[in-house]
Amino acid sequence: MQYKQFGKNGPMVSRLGFGCMRLPAVGEGENRRCDDERCIPILRRAYELGINFFDTAWGYTNRDNPRIMGKALHDVRDKVYFSSKLPPSEVQQPGDFRRKLEHSLKLMDTDYLDFYHMHALNAGKWEHAKAVEMDKDMIRARDEGLIRHISFSFHDAPRVMVNIADSGIFDTLLCQYNLIDQSNEEVMGILAGRGMGIMVMGPIAGGMITSGGEDFLRLYDTPAKTPQELALRFVLGYDAVTLALSGMQSVEMVEQNVAIAEAAASVTPEEREGYKAANDNLRQLSGLYCSGCAYCNVCPVEIKPQQHFKIYNRARVWGFFEAAKKDYLQSELDKEAEKCLGCGACAAECPQFIDIPRRLREIRVYFCG
Ligand code: SF4
Ligand code: SF4
Repeated sequence: MQYKQFGKNGPMVSRLGFGCMRLPAVGEGENRRCDDERCIPILRRAYELGINFFDTAWGYTNRDNPRIMGKALHDVRDKVYFSSKLPPSEVQQPGDFRRKLEHSLKLMDTDYLDFYHMHALNAGKWEHAKAVEMDKDMIRARDEGLIRHISFSFHDAPRVMVNIADSGIFDTLLCQYNLIDQSNEEVMGILAGRGMGIMVMGPIAGGMITSGGEDFLRLYDTPAKTPQELALRFVLGYDAVTLALSGMQSVEMVEQNVAIAEAAASVTPEEREGYKAANDNLRQLSGLYCSGCAYCNVCPVEIKPQQHFKIYNRARVWGFFEAAKKDYLQSELDKEAEKCLGCGACAAECPQFIDIPRRLREIRVYFCG
């Protein structure tokens, strides 16, 4: 296992981190909880093979997920890093943050968390977090030694990521990044350059890349033997990235993923440049080169064109039509496209000169007929 420093003041963490969200569970609905008998050997095997970073969150597995992480790794607590997350919506009044942090520490049987995230921040949630002084609560908890690093996980336009990081309170962040979604790439590089640690979720795009099989692998000139290895080679090859999180549901999967991560960590800058060039070519072939910069987010009816183009390119560039169509419809982008007034305010901001209103209409027809 290779290790890398997580942020300018952070510890050396394994380049593959364990995302605990999908650990095996038993029971249904409100009774769903982690399956101790299956989870503990999985987490222990990950530790034995060199993974030293484990990530959970307040809400995972009906709030039972942090417990299993603490239980499985209690005797090696000083050799591993615990990461957890609390959504700003859980903080509504003074005392909420502290009470929930203390509850988490007790549940995880530990005196401190190494990394504590504001969970799933977007512009609105960040405003709420500041309004309820969650940022000040986190700083206080760090000063008292209850948490060691303040972090955030992120789901919004790249420039919002920079705005949040500009607050100066965060040491690390967790964001989406993979072979078919590089919208965060530029800001990740900027923030890593300022000394922030960057952790990536979704390195295989929610399983989409692995589902592409041999056909997907053939799109790239790569020594990777599987699409999953290619995906990790791409992510770990970006020097802004400290580690990638992977959810593992069996001992076999842990062993397989560790072997893949070890192979993937050998990626060279030249190899990675090749992947970038291949991606650029593929996008150009699709005739719709959207970088995801979000400069076009000036719409009077709040359409975010990059979301439409990202999903469209998944189908057109990489061939995942059915999965892309499902996402498009589930996100109700067809209804959003229907709202477009054709005013052109978005297109006037686009550095790629995309005729946005026309493309929104075409994409709607492409997916919905
Ligand atoms: S053209 Fe459509 S998407 Fe663009 S700003 Fe106007 S209403 Fe919004
Ligand atoms: S459509 Fe243009 S402005 Fe909007 S995200 Fe894509 S490249 Fe940026």
